[in-house]
Amino acid sequence: MEFELDSPSSPLAAPQEPPQIRRLEECVVNRIAAGEVIQRPVSAVKELVENSLDAHSTSINVVVKDGGLKLIQVSDDGHGIRFEDLPILCERHTTSKLSTYEDLQTIKSMGFRGEALASMTHVAHVTVTTITKGQLHGYRVSYKDGVMEHQPKACAAVKGTQIMVENLFYNMVARKKTLQSTVDDYSKIVDVISRFAIHHTSVSFSCRKHGAVRADVHSVATSSRLDVIRSVYGPSVSCNLMKLETSDSDPVGSIFSMDGFISSSNYMAKKTTMVLFINDRLVECTALKRALEIVYAATLPKASKPFIYMSIQLPPEHVDVNVHPTKREVSLLNQERIIEKIQSVAESKLRSSNTSRVFPEQTLDPSQLSPFSSSKDSQTDSPPTASKSQKTPVNKIVRTDAMDPAGRLDAYLKAKPLEGLERNPSLTAVRSAVRLRRNPKETADLTSLQELIDDVERNCHSDLLDVVRHCTFIGMADEILALLQHGTHLYLANVVNLSKEIMYQQVLRRFAHFNAIQLSEPAPVSDLIMLALQEEDLNSESTDGDELKQNIAKLNSELLKEKMEMLEEYFGISINSEGYLSMLPVILDQHTPDMDRIPDFLLTLGNDIEWLDEKNCFQGIAAAIANFYAMHPPLLPNPSGDGMHFYKRKATDNRDDEGNTIEKADIQVEEKDEIDNDLISEAETAWAQREWSIQHVLFPSMRLFLKPPASMATNGTFVKVASLEKLYKVFERC
Ligand code: ADP
Ligand code: MG
Repeated sequence: MEFELDSPSSPLAAPQEPPQIRRLEECVVNRIAAGEVIQRPVSAVKELVENSLDAHSTSINVVVKDGGLKLIQVSDDGHGIRFEDLPILCERHTTSKLSTYEDLQTIKSMGFRGEALASMTHVAHVTVTTITKGQLHGYRVSYKDGVMEHQPKACAAVKGTQIMVENLFYNMVARKKTLQSTVDDYSKIVDVISRFAIHHTSVSFSCRKHGAVRADVHSVATSSRLDVIRSVYGPSVSCNLMKLETSDSDPVGSIFSMDGFISSSNYMAKKTTMVLFINDRLVECTALKRALEIVYAATLPKASKPFIYMSIQLPPEHVDVNVHPTKREVSLLNQERIIEKIQSVAESKLRSSNTSRVFPEQTLDPSQLSPFSSSKDSQTDSPPTASKSQKTPVNKIVRTDAMDPAGRLDAYLKAKPLEGLERNPSLTAVRSAVRLRRNPKETADLTSLQELIDDVERNCHSDLLDVVRHCTFIGMADEILALLQHGTHLYLANVVNLSKEIMYQQVLRRFAHFNAIQLSEPAPVSDLIMLALQEEDLNSESTDGDELKQNIAKLNSELLKEKMEMLEEYFGISINSEGYLSMLPVILDQHTPDMDRIPDFLLTLGNDIEWLDEKNCFQGIAAAIANFYAMHPPLLPNPSGDGMHFYKRKATDNRDDEGNTIEKADIQVEEKDEIDNDLISEAETAWAQREWSIQHVLFPSMRLFLKPPASMATNGTFVKVASLEKLYKVFERC
């Protein structure tokens, strides 16, 4: 179709004649405005629940049909609506909560604009049933476009108000269509009710689908917020929460008080849940959310996202509640200062809780050991148990200390030290405990072992030893190389080589004295070796038959079974009589190996060890363990690097092409580039975990234990890249 360029009504009309300005019809204005306030079903639910809360209800029940598009019904036991007010109840800008503009400064109610109900009547059919105190009966009346459709009818009613919103967006075809084609709003509604439930603990909430017997959110009024969190979000959340409080009363700085709960290091989630109330309003504050996410990312070994519930109270005149039509955002006086303060208490709380972190046992499921699967952590729901008690198997607990600021890049970025952050002495305790095991006396009689240890000492390069002892870790330069500063020199150091060497040396030092990593499910050695053989095949395109591989796998696992006593006693590797691997040694405290590498490790043990010569045998096993535990780049490509293309999924063409409308075709095109978010998040976790380990485990242990062999000076493990003095000279000239 062609545009009629000279038509006066065309938006592309020539500019000589300005188009006429006309007043929009009132119903159009109202509908446009309504569409802004009620953007989707969940916004209607939020407004209705806020009205119920404003009416001092103690019980609020929500019923939803078809994601809210067919029906939203909110019933409360609040003070009800006066009969005389019913005619104007749903007119725009009618409210019982605000009379002068100045009232906004001190307003405590959630509503104040008198727009919500009016908006709903412009985009849905609204029916109100209400009864006020002392009345014998209630009234029911329906509204359309702001006005009553008929006189209120007397009816039986229970205390409070029930508002029914039916056929939402019946007159906004485009909106309805987009909502119908996207995911059901019901989960958003459940989410909003859950949030209200954990904040308003003196109110009982329920939310269910129309016709469903069971509610999806059900909370009972109680005095304990943790109890409500448990009943709404489940024990896996409530058990892993820590109370957080802070306040400020500096009239020139900021005045606020905050209390809430934040998840501890034992909580695992892929997405942040941030439930924020400011002056009892459910709001969002992206800046605060980000600030807290940063704390978690910087403090925790796993890139787990937090659960946060926070209630902030400020003088009402410090909050502008009128910055968003749905009141979703508010703006605060001194927001930055408040965020900084909250961030710093959250950080110190998290750090102190993280000093005794319980690592879950590793689950090893051989069916998942494909080249690109990575080990899954089975996260226990229970809170950290007292690790000192005799009953707790010590071998299942690995201590972590994130307090060691040495060498942290972020330590240098911080302008000022955070308040209340003291150096925790537990790291020293862990270190000395480890040191005690450095020279196990009982095993000194094994001459071959002693010889291997002596070899390490003899080979040690004294200059590199000084670098290793006194270097500062600056950050990772790429996937393999870390940037270090030593005195005025910068070095690139290969973390794979370094970690392999330190693991090797630690195996020798801890010989026969290992703590254990227990596999929660023992893994069949023979199947794992088979996996490794098939994997080798993929790489070398060898054509050995499966039968041959089966035989090799069987022979190797038989061999390992034969050696199981020695492997267990000296190296903490436990293989039971059925040929299942059940235990691995702890080589560096706080570090667990990448379980995807078990098949390779077992194959090396089965194939490459010289069992007959004691010294060679010990050396071979130590090297195999070292290679297994070394901090290799994770098998999943780094999504933040070049690896992103790996996660782009091809369209799964399961639709019928012929019957497709253009819209559907569009959707398909989009799907071609669909990204596998689960895998990305798994990869991100693996990479973040590795970086954490390099910084907090590898480098601190290296400073203490590594005796760098002379070969590291020449084989590229350490490369001096610059001298700061020279760099400064260059800059001076600039
Ligand atoms: P606002 O909440 O901004 O005042 P609304 O359109 O949401 O505007 O509601 C208009 C008025 O209707 C409120 O001021 C209140 O007096 C009354 N109202 C609405 N819902 C309820 C309810 N559930 N219980 C009692 N009164 C209600
Ligand atoms: Mg309201």
